[in-house]
Amino acid sequence: MKTLRIKVYGIVQGVGMRPVVARHAARTGIKGTVANLGPYVEIFAQGEAAKVDEFLRLIEEEPPKRAAILKIDARPVEDAPVYDDFEIIESGKTSGEIFVSPDIAMCDECREELFDKNNRRYLHPFINCTCCGPRLTILDSLPYDRERTSMKEFPMCDKCASEYYDPDTRRYDAQPVCCNDCGPEVFILDDPEGRRGRDAIVHARKILSEGGVVAVKGIGGFHLACDAKSDDAVMRLRQLKHRPAKPFAVMMRDIDIVRKHCITTDVQEEIITGHQKPILLLPKKDDSTLAPGIAPGNPTVGVMLPYAPVQSLLFDYDDELNMTDCLVMTSGNVSGLPICRDDEDARAEIARFADCILTHNRKIRIRADDSVMDFYDGKPYMIRRSRGYAPLPYMMTRSFEGSVIAYGGELKNTFCIGVNNLFYPSSYIGDLTDLKGKAALTESVGRMQVLLETRPSLAVCDLHPRYNSSEAAEESGLPLVRVQHHYAHVLSCMAENDFFGECIGVSFDGTGYGTDGTIWGGEIMRCDLDGFDRLMSIRPFLQTGGDLASREGWRIAVSMLIDICGDEAEGICDKLGLIRNGTFKMYKAMHDDKVNSVVSTSAGRLFDAVSAILGIRYESTFEGEAATALMYKAMEHVQEEITADYDLVEVDVLATDRIVKDLTEARLAGSDESALAYRFHYLLARAIAEAVSCKSNGIRTVALSGGCYQNTLLLGLTKRLLEDRGFKVLIHSLIPPNDGGISLGQAVYGMNKLMNGGI
Ligand code: ZN
Ligand code: ZN
Ligand code: FE
Repeated sequence: MKTLRIKVYGIVQGVGMRPVVARHAARTGIKGTVANLGPYVEIFAQGEAAKVDEFLRLIEEEPPKRAAILKIDARPVEDAPVYDDFEIIESGKTSGEIFVSPDIAMCDECREELFDKNNRRYLHPFINCTCCGPRLTILDSLPYDRERTSMKEFPMCDKCASEYYDPDTRRYDAQPVCCNDCGPEVFILDDPEGRRGRDAIVHARKILSEGGVVAVKGIGGFHLACDAKSDDAVMRLRQLKHRPAKPFAVMMRDIDIVRKHCITTDVQEEIITGHQKPILLLPKKDDSTLAPGIAPGNPTVGVMLPYAPVQSLLFDYDDELNMTDCLVMTSGNVSGLPICRDDEDARAEIARFADCILTHNRKIRIRADDSVMDFYDGKPYMIRRSRGYAPLPYMMTRSFEGSVIAYGGELKNTFCIGVNNLFYPSSYIGDLTDLKGKAALTESVGRMQVLLETRPSLAVCDLHPRYNSSEAAEESGLPLVRVQHHYAHVLSCMAENDFFGECIGVSFDGTGYGTDGTIWGGEIMRCDLDGFDRLMSIRPFLQTGGDLASREGWRIAVSMLIDICGDEAEGICDKLGLIRNGTFKMYKAMHDDKVNSVVSTSAGRLFDAVSAILGIRYESTFEGEAATALMYKAMEHVQEEITADYDLVEVDVLATDRIVKDLTEARLAGSDESALAYRFHYLLARAIAEAVSCKSNGIRTVALSGGCYQNTLLLGLTKRLLEDRGFKVLIHSLIPPNDGGISLGQAVYGMNKLMNGGI
């Protein structure tokens, strides 16, 4: 007789660990107990030595599908009591390393049951099982048990309870288990006719099939939906939402429909059908029948498959309505605000965009926007890391100790909690320019601290004095360190790659506050965990027009051309049609007197200006519009080696002014704009590679980060030209290169400070 005490660490909460363990015990005839202790699952296994070993092997080799086991610790127990069966015991509590499971998309088995007339959960909008369903978004605290989730308001009926307690069912120990008799219910919000359940779904489908807009409450928040094949419906939604051009994500009925509209690779198909179900940016086929208004002028489309049962029911139901197989599914929010999470938000913010609101009475505790994934070199390249991924931690090999909270940036905000060597980047909060965004940040930070059972002793925020995220950090009352924005970008790339040595950081980005009070954004810096030196930047220019400058690239272009071309600037601006309102003289006067102007090295603004000079986009209706259009133009014209007859790097700047001059002259001489767009990308990448080479001082590792590296053409060119020069290049993968990633960099910096006693 042998007894082992086995501790299983990792993602073991909410993935059916206990039932699987109980099944393994039944198979091997092991007696004992299994319990969820929060940070780990604890098992006492008793039986003949060979059987106990066999049981342990089964746990290692056949864990539940969704579990991610990091460590198994097994030790013999002396004087163990004699067990006479194998039992799952109720959750106790232990603090320590905690793994919170992200939400898991509906599994294939549940999908089959959902559409099986003979199943008792036929068409049940909340069907789930031990290996799928909501997790993070319904969680109050750990351990993950029904009473600590928003499912506690829905007592199980006898049938559900018998499945829940029976180790032989697919719903054994599944906390959100429910059915048509006992589960939450969908209904139409503020409906004079009071439609609920079946009637509510039929009503929503009817509105969609007639070209209307429906707000739908899903797992992590509301979406706005309409028929993605009807340009009228799409244009109406654009008008309602005041969103003229920003691409809409499309939810497609199944993978066959995705193949019909998009070009996919095996890896992409695996991810789009997988259990995380992010939005994937896929190239659109020429014969796609999606409404052109989905992503105007954009060769790709953001696509996802249904992940919540109610979404599947919008495509398929037994009401004989003729439904579209492609629905726009865009975040249900006012542009710039966090995604709506409850009925009150929906009433206040999105009711006016929608013909009806299909909601339900299961509460969402934590928002989780859809994750958005691009691809680079055949691998995932994350643009927004949220549902399905957050709050999976990053485990660093360096031994950190302590607890920190990093508040992130101002746009695309996420925060990150670091506990020892584990770092938990949060789900997406959104833009904090509005106080609602800040309130959402503060609330989510509080919730995650409870879930992770940690009390940070240090807060970290951006250097910018007026960011709402920095204000939230100040209000925490904790000691505070501030990290320069572009250095934080580089740190996030280092952290994602588990690299903590010295490197050259290339941080090409929108705008961030520099240590000298000017605006930075095209930076080459020597970085390690302790700090950075700014080695070089793009040529500073005058960013005129205040806030307008970030949307209206032509203003930047005019300002640059005044500096670059002197007296000829007026004629050139005229020929290029750059003055979109007012007169050249007016801008010249503003420029000369530095009215409403700041000195800037923002690479993002440089992209906007070039886009305007080449006549591709004069302004942006959403962040990155002009730069993205410039990239797609360039991708139409990929060339071999490109040369310039001037130096791309001067003493301590990248000669981006020379590149702009070169492009302007070529444009005036009638060169093709796509060839010039490519030329710009290439020369900028080469200037970066040359600058890194001349400043590397023996450092051989380079980290590429910042919002401009969402641009996969710039990424590929920079990486190749640096590798040609013998550098090892670190790039992002599942942490976004944009501001959604900087909280991780801040957290790592804070943790290092904490350990070095600098606080
Ligand atoms: Zn399932
Ligand atoms: Zn039930
Ligand atoms: Fe940034």
